Amino acid sequence: TKSTRPQRLLKAVQKHSTRGDPQSVISAIDHFCRHREWAMNVGDEKGSILDSVVSELNPEKVLELGTYCGYSTVRIARLLPPGARLITLEFNADYAAIARQVIAWAGLEDKVQLVEGASGDWIPRMKEHFGIETFDFVFLDHWKDRYLPDTKLMEDCGLLRKGTVLLADNVICPGVPDYLEYVRNSLSYKSCYFKSHLEYTKAEDGLEKSVFLG
Ligand code: SAM
Ligand code: MG
Repeated sequence: TKSTRPQRLLKAVQKHSTRGDPQSVISAIDHFCRHREWAMNVGDEKGSILDSVVSELNPEKVLELGTYCGYSTVRIARLLPPGARLITLEFNADYAAIARQVIAWAGLEDKVQLVEGASGDWIPRMKEHFGIETFDFVFLDHWKDRYLPDTKLMEDCGLLRKGTVLLADNVICPGVPDYLEYVRNSLSYKSCYFKSHLEYTKAEDGLEKSVFLG
């Protein structure tokens, strides 16, 4: 039977990157997606914005919504301080299986907990199941109709604190108008847009960074 795109992406990682070297894993995936097959990773251009937000924040507790093959997981985890933890949620078992191998290949499995399941089911269980008080940083990159309900769910579950940073991908393409309208007009957030391009294309897209004010 024909292989899937995530399986071919993993093969490219194993062939063209160095085990234990996250930067080489990132480069191998970007090269594969730019020259072979497009895939829905945050990509290199928006990825460098993601890098600067993570580096500036130096977060200890991170939540990622939407793992796919683990590209952004590797990107974020490689910048985390010792002892920091990244929980990433993925509800597609085939993608999760690939992501586990990509994360392990990058040598980052000690920093990353990949949780299989839907965000709406797991967010309410974060405190009891993982002993999380609050997250310092949340990267939203799952299905776009879930950004707003999951943000409200994180608020209701007490997972955000004054200063928690939400970074949302694809706010222009495909776009998340309900989420943008909420974080830009709510007095509980200070929000700003980072203009960029849709991964591996020239189409406008960007990231919205929203600081929770409590
Ligand atoms: N963040 C990844 C990166 O940049 O490398 C890309 C993530 S991809 C755009 C979105 C992923 O979210 C898909 O793999 C999809 O299966 C997953 N997903 C979508 N809705 C979800 C939900 N409600 N809970 C868990 N995973 C979800
Ligand atoms: Mg995205």
